[in-house]
Amino acid sequence: MDCHLHSRFSPDAKKCGADTPQHIAEAVRKKGLRGFIVTDHIDIGHWTDSKPIDFDEYFETWERVRKNNPDLTIFIGLEIGYEKEHEQENAELVKDLPIEYIINSVHYWHPNDGFKSGHIQSFTSYLKCVSASLDAPYPFNTVGHLGFPERYAPSQDMIIDYDTFRPLLDEIIRKALDRGVRFEENTNAGGAMRLPRADFLREYKSRGGARPVLGSDAHISDSIGQYFDKAEKFLDGIFGKRDAQANIV
Ligand SMILES: [Zn+2]
Ligand SMILES: [Zn+2]
Repeated sequence: MDCHLHSRFSPDAKKCGADTPQHIAEAVRKKGLRGFIVTDHIDIGHWTDSKPIDFDEYFETWERVRKNNPDLTIFIGLEIGYEKEHEQENAELVKDLPIEYIINSVHYWHPNDGFKSGHIQSFTSYLKCVSASLDAPYPFNTVGHLGFPERYAPSQDMIIDYDTFRPLLDEIIRKALDRGVRFEENTNAGGAMRLPRADFLREYKSRGGARPVLGSDAHISDSIGQYFDKAEKFLDGIFGKRDAQANIV
């Protein structure tokens, strides 16, 4: 299953030409996947030039797609951008929604000077926010794309390696295990970049962590299921070969 993809209900996906919801389902089928979870963006305080999701329309649309595609397993979810100052608004927003799956992601963190004060400081600031996101006052299923700022680092040598960031990564693993949430392996950054990285996942597994779910983070249909073969092999190397019948989450 593709557990992370965006549709026209996400402003950035709309801008880059996302397919209609029915076409997304067809693209998932064509890729040979069993199903998907639609996880459109909620980032309160950002993208204020776009109109917020109309949730009546959101659920009506995806319920209809689910009904029209009974061969696919489809869940209706959201990707919520975590920020401390908006956590209560997020909680309020999802409280009464019949949401089936939530990815809790950090897209904006503070302070963030775009690597001007060095990558150690930038990554530390990001990881502190991820750690805080694990105490979010709303339910969620997975931690989105752990290591996200590596995508924007000025050099590929700038990575969130376990040894350098051990105290914060230890804390993130502990909180995730305590809360019973999973990680996703996000394949959006391409075949080589791993979010999360292998050293993190080895440590996580050694403490009882379960195999991550896979998410393409597709904003257009062509990217659905991207690099899943590589990611499955990568995860097999850490968690052992997956039971083909195993379900998600
Ligand atoms: Zn994201
Ligand atoms: Zn996303």
